[in-house]
Amino acid sequence: MMWKLNKKGLKKEILLFFKEIDSKSPKEIQKVKKVAMKINFPLKEKRKLFCDKCFSPHLASKVKIKKGFKIIKCKKCGKVSRWKINSS
Ligand SMILES: [Zn+2]
Repeated sequence: MMWKLNKKGLKKEILLFFKEIDSKSPKEIQKVKKVAMKINFPLKEKRKLFCDKCFSPHLASKVKIKKGFKIIKCKKCGKVSRWKINSS
């Protein structure tokens, strides 16, 4: 991935990266998150695609829906993330 792009180019690269997150390593995910923060690019929904703690993609992690929350338990480190489900 090219990181010497301008801000617009970087945003495009980041979105592309998340489309293929299943094949990315935690190291790469951490790097992309840093770049996104650097250019003030909010990842929003994309943040749900990987673990906040170990940066593994959440592909095989357990997902539960409970009381309007989506609960994802990381398969690798066991970190539990809760996301409010928008009813709209
Ligand atoms: Zn984890």
